[in-house]
Parts: sequence; C-alpha cells; structure tokens
Amino acid sequence: MKRSAPCALRVFDLSFTLSGLLLLAPFWLARGLLALIRSGRLFERTPLLGRDRRPFAQLAFAGAGPGRELALLFNLLRGDLALVGPRPLSVTEAATLPAADRRFSVRPGLFSLYRLQQRTGIAYDTESELDHRLIEQLSVRSNLGLMLRSVVAGLMGGGAALPIPPQLDFFGVPIVNTTMDEAVDWIAARAVSTPTAATEHDGKFLLAFVNPDCLNIAYRHAPYRRILQQAARVLPDGIGIKIGCRMRGLGLAANVNGTDLFPRLCQRAAQDGFSLFLLGARPGIAELVAENMRQRYPGLTIAGVHHGYFGSDEEAAIVARINDSGAAVLLVAFGVPRQELWLAAHHATLTPPVRMGVGGLFDFYSGRIPRAPLWLREIGLEWVWRLLQEPGRMWRRYLLGNPLFLYRVWQQTRQEGKTRE
Ligand code: UDP
Repeated sequence: MKRSAPCALRVFDLSFTLSGLLLLAPFWLARGLLALIRSGRLFERTPLLGRDRRPFAQLAFAGAGPGRELALLFNLLRGDLALVGPRPLSVTEAATLPAADRRFSVRPGLFSLYRLQQRTGIAYDTESELDHRLIEQLSVRSNLGLMLRSVVAGLMGGGAALPIPPQLDFFGVPIVNTTMDEAVDWIAARAVSTPTAATEHDGKFLLAFVNPDCLNIAYRHAPYRRILQQAARVLPDGIGIKIGCRMRGLGLAANVNGTDLFPRLCQRAAQDGFSLFLLGARPGIAELVAENMRQRYPGLTIAGVHHGYFGSDEEAAIVARINDSGAAVLLVAFGVPRQELWLAAHHATLTPPVRMGVGGLFDFYSGRIPRAPLWLREIGLEWVWRLLQEPGRMWRRYLLGNPLFLYRVWQQTRQEGKTRE
C-alpha cells in the first residue's frame, strides 16, 4: 500500500482526536476532576522520546482507577504521539538503538504492528523488524485497518500483561510456555546432537502441538493424553489456548503453532545442515511441500517424503525408509491423535532424534488449502477461515469444541480455586 504524506496522517490523527475529545468530553472532564480532587494534580507524566528523539511527557490522569489513558488525547492533540506508529521509548531504551534508527523518523504511536501481533501471540519477528515494516506502510487506510484489527485482537487475545509462567497445564497436559525462536533453537539443538550426548528422553524427542480441539480429545482419550504427558515438549497452538490462559489469569508467551514454526525450522535446517523427512497427507502433497520449501530455503535437505495413506503391512518398510534417510527431524501429518499414536507406537524403532505431529500442515505448504490471510490471524480468527473452508468437517471442532474447551478451563480454574481455599 502507498504511504500517505505526513500531513495527511496528521489530519487523520487530528480529526480522530478532536472527535474523541468531543464525544468523550463528559468522561475526560469527570476523570480530570477526580484526579484533581483525589491527588491534587491533573496529570502524571512519563518522560519519553518522540519523533527525532525529541523528549515529551506522556500524560495519564493522576491517581489509580480507570480512565487514566483518556489523557493521551492531549498528547495526540499536541502531536507528541500519533495514533499509529512505533511504541514511544524511554531514554534508556532508545540508547540501545543506532542513532539513525528509522523508528525516530516518525511520531511514536498508540497502535503498532508489534503490539497488535503480541495481543494474539504471533509477534514472531522482533519489535524493530515489525516497526520498520509499519513505517513502510503508514497510510490513512492501513492505519485505520491496524486500529480496527488492534481492537478486535484486544477482545480476542487481551491487552493487559499477565504473568507468564514457564509451563501451563490444561486438564493434566503440561504445555511449555515459550517463544517461537526458543522453540526452533530447542529443536535445532536436539536435531544435531548425537544419541550418546543426549541423555534426556533417550535422545528421542517427541514434540506435539496442541489446540483446544487436541485438548478436548486428550480429555477423553487416555492413550493420547499419556503420550502428551510423556512427550519431550508440548507447544501451544492457537488463540483458544491464549483465551484459556487469560481465563486462568496467565499470559501466553507466544502462539507456537506448527504452521508458523515450519518455515522457521526449514530455514534453520538449511543453515545448520540437518535434514527433514515429511510423512503424511494425500499422495503427491509431501513432494510439493518439499519442492516449495527447497525453493524458499536453498540448501535445505528434505531427506525423504511419503504419503500418509498406507496399510499396516507397509509400516516396517516406511520406518526403515525414514531411518535410512538419515533425517534428523521427522514430521508426521496424519491428524490428531493418529499421528501421535503412530509416533508412540514406533518410538523405539524410529531413529530421527526429533519427531513431531503436524496435522494439516502439508496441505497448507503444498498450496492445496490456502492459509488464512495475515489480517485474520492477527485478530485471532484463523479458525473461522478453517471453518468456512471445510464446514462439514470443522463445525463440530470449532462450534461445539471451542465452547466445550472454555467450559472445561472454567471448571479446572474453579476446581483449583477450591483446592487452594
Ligand atoms: N491424513 C493422512 N493419513 C490418514 C488420515 C489423514 O495422511 O490416514 C492426513 C490428511 O491428508 C491431512 C492431515 O492428515 O493432510 C490431517 O489434517 P487435519 O487438518 O485434520 O489435521 P489437524 O486438524 O489435526 O491439524
């Protein structure tokens, strides 16, 4: 999208702010009065840096309680802040950045791409990378879109910072609460370790991704639940887990789903020189994925592929083929819980150090099923896209499964509350 001229952006900010000041006049007047009565002063000031590193004071109505942020309207009016722009930094934070960093070429803003993606847990790139992308596309239209997406993302994923424990627990399934980068590092470290050097899990690491549907299955399917409990790592997939965390007063470090992890894993495999084996999906699909990923990441070795529709009489030959390929990471796409049960059944005989179930991932990367556009993922509604694509198969999973999952989380939270009392 074409960037708008700075004056067009300022007019946009001013019209928005003036309308806000008018519409919210009774609220900010009352909040200002309350601040004066309660604490004898109108504003609290936080010193920050604005455009061209010019210092300014970010305002909040004095005293605790709701409505403090209404004072930001005056920062917007004065032009200290824009509606959309990189987050304003303190002097200490700014000192770590290069003098010519582009984030200081525009006004800092209340809404940013980084903050938006953080709300739904998909801020996999650094804040600085996302800020630079934001600056490239600053325009009235895209700013309006970003603001709308931020509001919906706030409703779905939440805005307030919550404590982020290293591990989560849903219905007895332990989930590692980590970032995308750490998850890729973890896999890469184990993919290149020699079996004798790796002492945990016999050097065979099962990785699983779980969304609310998987946790619903684990709730009633004891063998699958046991596999998850014994897996080397279970990672959180999707907005449902983030909402579940919020219901329990906890923060999710990131939505570490297989679909977003896969290209990062391919990039790392190409860079570190370990190889992958793709098992699953309809005939021809894994081949397409291998071709696409080799093109995207030159140097990537896909040691072998095989479709996921075979009889039990072929299993031994397929396991031998995987082992002979020398692959370090085996990705199995049969859907949940079939893939995890299959991996557990062949745990001892398979030799790739890292194995993981990846569900419908190959269908996306082969191009067979298009993935939801980024804007839908940013607002936590990728599942609506999946529902519309395959309503016959997905309605049960999402329309019945999501509320059921939330109900069970509520039940678990209540139970834990009672045990604590
Ligand atoms: N699949 C397979 N073998 C089977 C059944 C399914 O390889 O016997 C594949 C199927 O083609 C699809 C994937 O498993 O690519 C399951 O996708 P789904 O979207 O159901 O996975 P999930 O929702 O569990 O991620």
